[in-house]
Amino acid sequence: MKLHNFSGGPAILPDYVYHKAADAIKNYNGTGLSLLETSHRSSAFAGILMEAEALLRELLSIPQAYAVLFLAGGASQHFAQIPLNLLHKDTGAAYLDSGVWAANAINEARYYGRVHVVASGKAEAYRSIPTGFAIPEDSIYFHYTSNNTIYGTTLREVPQTSVPVICDMSSDILSAEIDVTKFGMIYASVQKNAGAAGVSIIVIRKDLLDNVNPDIPNIFNYATLATNRSLYNTPPVFAIYTTLLNLQWLQREGGISAIEKRNIEKSQLLYEEIDRNRLFTGRVSNSTQRSRMNITFWADKPEQEQAFLDFAAERGVVGIKQYADYGGFRASLYNALSLESVKTLVAVMQEFEHHMQP
Ligand code: PLP
Repeated sequence: MKLHNFSGGPAILPDYVYHKAADAIKNYNGTGLSLLETSHRSSAFAGILMEAEALLRELLSIPQAYAVLFLAGGASQHFAQIPLNLLHKDTGAAYLDSGVWAANAINEARYYGRVHVVASGKAEAYRSIPTGFAIPEDSIYFHYTSNNTIYGTTLREVPQTSVPVICDMSSDILSAEIDVTKFGMIYASVQKNAGAAGVSIIVIRKDLLDNVNPDIPNIFNYATLATNRSLYNTPPVFAIYTTLLNLQWLQREGGISAIEKRNIEKSQLLYEEIDRNRLFTGRVSNSTQRSRMNITFWADKPEQEQAFLDFAAERGVVGIKQYADYGGFRASLYNALSLESVKTLVAVMQEFEHHMQP
């Protein structure tokens, strides 16, 4: 049976990536070596890094004023690394608390300097993202999460401020067009929309690198890492290759504008069914903030939750159980998930409704 993988991450990858990655394990590009045993100092890997950077720049229209890095480790590491680099003891940073990942970033920043939380959605169990908050002008930066993977909320507009905006785009990078010049820094774990776990994409405006605290270890210093073009130490060679393959696939599919159209179509289809179906309710309270990547909903009768998970799994729909203890469902519709998979989930929801309330 064909499985439809709605996992929140690590998540479904395009077939193109699986095939090319499998070939590279055997013999990378005719070199006679597996990519797993290829040096990060080889010309083969230099080519991979160069193409990955060039493609990312092209797909997101990243100006030369920004450095692009592919670093080992996930976004959680950067929750700490960002304030380590940029938040000096006599400065403060502003953060928006829109969910667990944002709160983790806030907690890490508190080790380094003053943190001002501009607003929090916690009291409302993060069912929407607060808006209309004020960002103090003397903040060294403003940090927010564009897409809250667990709650299924998204902020499509970049908050307006004169201070550099730093954005965690782990679960929506490359899913829709963005204006990079509105950001001081963008970072993302790649294992949702851009590859296999082990790598973060970092896009950082070069003038911010001039403000990096010099009294921190080199291995964490963004300026050092940028000077060494992601090769300060051994990077996760194979994982970076899977990111390159994702970028190649995205370009072949028509780039970000084409994939964004598809993401709109896929998410609309599922939201329509959630709103129509008598057994389910959407989790997000502000409908303009509904994520196109992570779609969250509940069973109106909690006792039907496990029954639906089992019913769906029997029909090949997997990965829709909500994160850890949150209850309910989350269907992640990342770039690689096909419209056909979404149609299958919708059909399963309709069949379940008929099964429970004939
Ligand atoms: N930020 C967001 C928005 C996420 O969804 C996640 C993981 O799901 C993280 C950060 C943490 O990523 P990692 O586990 O790769 O550190």
